[in-house]
Amino acid sequence: MKLRVGAATDIGRARQRNEDAFWAKPPLYVVADGMGGHRGGEVASSLAVEVMSREEPAPLPDRVRDANRAVFDRSAGDRSVAGMGTTVTAVEVDGGGRSAHLAHVGDSRAYLLRGSEFRALTQDHTLVQQMVDEGKITATEAHDHPQRNILTRVVGVDPDVAVDEQTLDMHPGDRLVLCSDGLTSMMRDQSIQEILDSHADAQDAAESLVDAANRAGGLDNITVVVIDFVEGDGVELLGAAAGGASERPAAERRDTSEAVPVPAGPAPDETGLIEAVPRRRHRLRRWLVGIAIVLLVIVGGLVAFRMYLDSQWYVGVSNGHVAVYRGSPGDVLGIGLSGVVYESNVPVRDAEQFQPYKSISDGLTEPGRAEAFAAIQDIKLKIRQAQRAQRKKGAGP
Ligand code: MN
Repeated sequence: MKLRVGAATDIGRARQRNEDAFWAKPPLYVVADGMGGHRGGEVASSLAVEVMSREEPAPLPDRVRDANRAVFDRSAGDRSVAGMGTTVTAVEVDGGGRSAHLAHVGDSRAYLLRGSEFRALTQDHTLVQQMVDEGKITATEAHDHPQRNILTRVVGVDPDVAVDEQTLDMHPGDRLVLCSDGLTSMMRDQSIQEILDSHADAQDAAESLVDAANRAGGLDNITVVVIDFVEGDGVELLGAAAGGASERPAAERRDTSEAVPVPAGPAPDETGLIEAVPRRRHRLRRWLVGIAIVLLVIVGGLVAFRMYLDSQWYVGVSNGHVAVYRGSPGDVLGIGLSGVVYESNVPVRDAEQFQPYKSISDGLTEPGRAEAFAAIQDIKLKIRQAQRAQRKKGAGP
């Protein structure tokens, strides 16, 4: 059998570091998704891959256990990476490509595409998968479950780890996919299958899956290794797989180690559950920024409206008398928008005899404070003039 291997890894759109690592060098293929504060996630995943890939003739599950021990020891000896851990999903191909041995811990996955059949070979070691197994929730509910990030098994957080393993007979035309949850949390299995079906080349398929996860939001690091089993001999490493392992540019490492202080990583509780804290922290921060922006807009709007109201003046009625108001006549949702600044002794009935004060009870808007008070003087003047005219008439011939 001939193997054609493609690989792609991407930081995604929301994370500041790529904590995934992969390995693609015959006969071993690995995807590891690290977690932990500071640089813990990167250290855990790359250390696990490094230990796994050592050229020692040990069975695959033993090498996962070696990786577990190495990450655990490093974590215990270095406070800055305390509590770190990583998933490991590994495939070792042997017998000239006729069989594949699988080892797995965590929520990275292996899939097999065989003809029109597409199925997960691994079971996630997560709390939600446990709930699905116990019939408490459905697989569909699990996909969007708020606790889907909680792992029940991780490499490197305990001195020992249980490793799932299985051996598969491979057929020409088979396609194996290893991926981190950055792919599967963003896309349903059916969409993954459609993309695999429409990209015959292993490297194209790996890159297209990463692109699709990014288009769907890219909330996590995304890593995909695609292994095609075809007629023939040998192994052809394509794209990023040709490098053998995931590369982390020195610049990115420097950026992320010191510049962004992150609180200590997650630690296992008594039940051994690990929470993927960084993922959640990022989402929480986005929410807080969003809420802060909305509050600023609301407060800003209220302040502007208040300033506008304070610049408005009108003449109206208070307790049956002509009065000066600051604000606007009327109300919004039953809330008054004005206050009495001055209540005169002029009865409204007297003012209403004169233009333009006939509709004074509705409020007559004035350009400013001075004009509002001048209007009251004007009303008083008109009333005096009218009274004088009345008296003249009365004293007349
Ligand atoms: Mn992940």
